[in-house]
Formats: sequence, structure tokens, C-alpha cells
Amino acid sequence: DISLSPRVSSLKPSKTIAITDQATALVQAGVPVIRLAAGEPDFDTPAVIAEAGMKAIRDGYTKYTPNAGTLELRSAICHKLKEENGISYTPDQILVSNGAKQSLLQAVLAVCSPGDEADYAGTIGVIIPAPFWVSYTEMARLADATPVILPTHISEDFLLDPKILESKLSEKSRLLVIGTPSNPAGTVYPRKLLEQIAQIVAAHLRLLVLSDEIYEHIIYAPAIHTSFASLPGMWERTLTVNGFSKAFAMTGWRLGYLAGPKHFVSACGKIQSQATSGACSISQKAAVAALGLGYAGGEAVAAMVKAFKERRDYLVQTFGELEGVKISEPQGAFYLFLDFSSYYGTEAEGFGLIKDSSSLCRYLLDKAQVIFQGVPFMGNETKVERGLIERHLSGWTGQRNILMCGTSLV
Ligand code: PLP
Repeated sequence: DISLSPRVSSLKPSKTIAITDQATALVQAGVPVIRLAAGEPDFDTPAVIAEAGMKAIRDGYTKYTPNAGTLELRSAICHKLKEENGISYTPDQILVSNGAKQSLLQAVLAVCSPGDEADYAGTIGVIIPAPFWVSYTEMARLADATPVILPTHISEDFLLDPKILESKLSEKSRLLVIGTPSNPAGTVYPRKLLEQIAQIVAAHLRLLVLSDEIYEHIIYAPAIHTSFASLPGMWERTLTVNGFSKAFAMTGWRLGYLAGPKHFVSACGKIQSQATSGACSISQKAAVAALGLGYAGGEAVAAMVKAFKERRDYLVQTFGELEGVKISEPQGAFYLFLDFSSYYGTEAEGFGLIKDSSSLCRYLLDKAQVIFQGVPFMGNETKVERGLIERHLSGWTGQRNILMCGTSLV
């Protein structure tokens, strides 16, 4: 029997991989391609961090660590969360994993169940404000829960309207995912808005917040990062996820973490203990050095953030001069999320019809050898996908045609 589990069959393939494969073919044919589709800093890991990793190898620090992560690293994380985020945790409330992606997936698996799934008509599993990092919905599906997308609007800088949140909640609501700063729009949730959301969360006793703070240090003044768990009454209701990939340019080291009430963190630890065990020992030593760089990553991180800001300013200005493109200026992260919908339905010479963000990306790759990424959940190439969009994005119309590009390699 060669059939696959329905769990896998229902997962969407990655559009990033499709366009990257196309680009790889071009590279192999000798065409120099500029890649703007990956969420990855183009900087090297700061030398002090890399050296700590090399020292770990030289010292023979190459064995299994405790499943939850070394006490040294978990203590350093507690210190960071206290100093920078105003949240108190003890090391047994921290779980270190192979990237924030694993932290997020385990959290979703630990708290969602098929009982949280429904036919979408009024009953809800995992609530995700759009536009969102595309893994959130697939993680919900892996947990047999239903992703429910809440619309936002470019004219409101993609901030979630608390009224819309309230209208979509039911007794089946289990998890609200808040990414701030967000991928892909660079939205930073102001404290006041988070407080309004917290009031709603407080009134729905089964609802937890999964707070993805992986981009917290990549933020542009005057925006300020607020950790959801630091709001009054929200410590018990929040699972905080953060990691090292983005701010410290450590994507390949694969290290992230979850902080939250012990009950949930231990459950996530149980999943991890049967899936991967403790994270890489060498990376954990490097992560201790990263946290030792000082407040918000110190000068090493500040230098990268300064470069990201200059690129953001350049791109916002440049795209701002293009006719028909709508922009919401990102307040954090290193993406630019643009509305190109006025271009759709037009014919491009030597290419054909540009019907949506995916075909615009293919056109730009053909024409200028630049890889952008069409936002998958807003594409509309096939009937099957359109069905999915209608099922999961009902009520969603405004942003179907927006294109995302990483700004990390400009
Ligand atoms: N969360 C968001 C919003 C992301 O964009 C990413 C990476 O692209 C992650 C989490 C996962 O990061 P990592 O697994 O590298 O720690």
C-alpha cells in the first residue's frame, strides 16, 4: 500500500521551494540570481558566538544534553526574559528546541486536538491573524485542528481588530497565534492593542496565546516590542516562543525555545523527548554566548538591525515611487509585504498573463533574475487551492493579491 496518511496529504507544499527550485535551475544554467525569498539574514553569525561553538567542539562538549536544554542556557534565557521582556520564569518553565519552528509545532500539538476541529461554521481551533507565516496553518493541520484566519487590512497596517477577534471566538477556540513583529508584514503590535486583546483572552477561559517573538530585536524605532505574557493576568495564558535564528544570524544553528506555565512546557518536553531529544550541545554553548552579548544583543545585533533599517527605508521609498503598488511600512522584521494587485490581469511582453502574485514572481524571475515570493495562501492558480482558500479564508478578500519579498539580501 503506497497511500499516505491523510495528515500529510492535507499539508500544503511549500511555494518557496517551488520558486527556489526554478531559481536553482537558472543558477545551474549560469544565470546570476538574486534571492529575496528566504527569511534569513545575510550576515555571518557574530564572531563571539561562532567562537563559543568552536570552543565547545574543541572541549569535547559534543554529547547529549538534557531534553529541556542545558541548565546554563535555560538560566540565561530566564535572565533575558526577566531583563528584556519583564516576564519571570524558572528554568523548569523553559524548553529549548531545534529552532523556534519546533517550539511552535510542539506547542500546537500539545494543546490542540481533533476535538478543537470543526467544519468551520462557528467553531474554531487555531486562530491566526492574516497575513501570517505560512507554517502556522500547517502546524494546526498537523494537530488535526482547524486554522481560522482573521482578516486585517493594509490601510490599518495589518493590525488585528479586536472586534473581529471577538466575533470569531467560540468555546472551541484554543490557541490565538500572535507574531510580533510579524512575518511577512513587519507589523508590531502596540501595547495598547495587546491590552485590548488580553481583555478578550481573559474572558475566554480555554483560550491560550501562542506569542511568536522571534523577530523582537529586529524592530525600528519608535516601535517598541511588548511580550504578551508580561501583560497583567496573561502569564498563565501565554506560551512565549523565541529563538536565535533571526536576530543573531544563527539560522543554521537551529535553536529556539518555549517559555510558559510548567504544565504546558512539560507536555511539549514529552513530545520532544520522543521526537528529537535535547537540542544540539554546540549550539547551546553558542546561544549562551549570544545572550551574553548584552541587552537586545548588544552592538553586534544593533549593527545588523541598522543595516536592515537602511534597506527597509530604501525599499519603501523605491517601491513607493512605483505606480499602483501599495505599501505598509514595516515596523520590524526584515520583510516587505506589497500589494501589486493593480498589475494582475495584465499581459507582460514575452511572458503572457500576470494573473496573480505567483505568476508575477515567475515573471520577475524570468525577466530580472530576482526571486520574490508570492504569498501562497493568496494565490489562486488551481481549483483545489481556490477551494482551500474559500474554506479557510472565508470573509477574506482584500489581500488576495499581495506579494512578499525578503529584504535580507538587497
Ligand atoms: N516564526 C516565524 C514568524 C518565522 O518567520 C520563523 C522562520 O522563518 C520561525 C518562527 C522559525 O525560526 P527558527 O525555527 O529558525 O528558529
